[in-house]
Amino acid sequence: MPHASVRSPLPGPQSAVVLERARQVTPRAVAWHHPVVAARGEGAVVYDVDGNRFLDLTGGVGCLAVGHAHPKVVRAIQEQAARFTHTDYAVVPYEVYVALCERLVNLAPGVHPKKAALFNSGAEAVENAVKLARAYTRRPALIAFEGAFHGRTYMALTLTSKVEPYKRDFGPFVPEVYRVPYPYPYRSPFPTPEQTAAYCLQRLEEAFALHVQPDRVAAVVVEPVLGEGGFVVPPPEFLPRLAQICRAHGILLIVDEIQTGFGRTGRLWAVEHFGVEPDLLVVGKSIAAGLPLSAVIGRAEILDCVPEGGIGGTYVGNPLSCAAALAVMEVLEEERLVERAVWVGNHLLRAFRDLQSRFAFIGDVRGLGAMVAMELVGDPRTKEPAPHLVTRVIHRAREQGVLLLRAGIYGNVIRVLVPLMIPETQLLEAMERIARAVEEVGRPLPEEAGG
Ligand code: PLP
Repeated sequence: MPHASVRSPLPGPQSAVVLERARQVTPRAVAWHHPVVAARGEGAVVYDVDGNRFLDLTGGVGCLAVGHAHPKVVRAIQEQAARFTHTDYAVVPYEVYVALCERLVNLAPGVHPKKAALFNSGAEAVENAVKLARAYTRRPALIAFEGAFHGRTYMALTLTSKVEPYKRDFGPFVPEVYRVPYPYPYRSPFPTPEQTAAYCLQRLEEAFALHVQPDRVAAVVVEPVLGEGGFVVPPPEFLPRLAQICRAHGILLIVDEIQTGFGRTGRLWAVEHFGVEPDLLVVGKSIAAGLPLSAVIGRAEILDCVPEGGIGGTYVGNPLSCAAALAVMEVLEEERLVERAVWVGNHLLRAFRDLQSRFAFIGDVRGLGAMVAMELVGDPRTKEPAPHLVTRVIHRAREQGVLLLRAGIYGNVIRVLVPLMIPETQLLEAMERIARAVEEVGRPLPEEAGG
């Protein structure tokens, strides 16, 4: 039976009380996208403390491929918690860490010998991938892309390419990071995606003449699809050509699959769409259903280049997170969630394209697998970004009982990171409600109509 949308104003009274307490003790910078306080999650649904039900298309920013509170994951965490919660793997090792690394190594692309090291957050894994690349190549420099997001710690933040809100006032950043454009077909001055990709690769080659000598570059760090940057999918030839250029100069290719990974794009890893084998693969988010866990997986000789004790951390590869990740892998297989990502994505693309045909402010609809987004513009000819329309659609969707998330270098993209297990009825319900939200925003506002 379809559920009614949220009728009373948000936040509800119980949420409002908690949010007011939060305002007193938590900094403004730790802002929330949705002013509703979570009470319980189940699959693709979140209930707030006022009893409102929301279809959660944010999935904890893409951490919940298997959904909220999957019974198998919950059981694995509970059983591990009852055994032990922490030793520090580097002090007293444990089997779940090893079992998880065995699985990750087997699942990562490439037949060469591989190893894996575990960390807590995505940013921490990016930091460690860079440390490994520098130590292995004995080179200092890094190349990253415009529109990239790699995290918020200093090296990760330096690699990140979005000033608002991430970099404002936080400089100076880490030296020896060079920036080149990422192919963004919708906003490219070139007529075809192929020309856009060729231009970006040419800019990379030029960077070797203009900015940094290639034999001083340790690694190129790249997302196979821009996540925070607005779900920008590069033309198919871009990543293979990039990998060739790296190989020609002895530069390592670090692929950040923190957002794209673990089935989100309809393959276990997004690089599989492009036939690329990274030297180092950085993963996080969905691998442990929201428990803090990330990993660097890659060529054994690179992972082994640092002497004993050179990488690590108190909590890295926490046993609860490892147990959750092993359960996630089982669920992914049993529920065929990688295949399901394609099905989810097709539904979303169809629904968003239908909306695009009706509303001129939907400038672009794009995606890979279940990573689907729409980019909103003031005018489809000028493509002037319209972040205020994103705010309004997200607001209206929330009133309809659907939680959405913003992205994009101009904040004018609505992205979907829905749990891949979402039942068909809920997916259809979500799309119907998003359509209603778009229709409401598409209608002229009373003051606009009056003018
Ligand atoms: N890299 C990518 C592609 C991401 O999407 C994110 C997070 O959104 C990160 C790195 C940083 O991960 P974390 O927030 O776990 O540090």
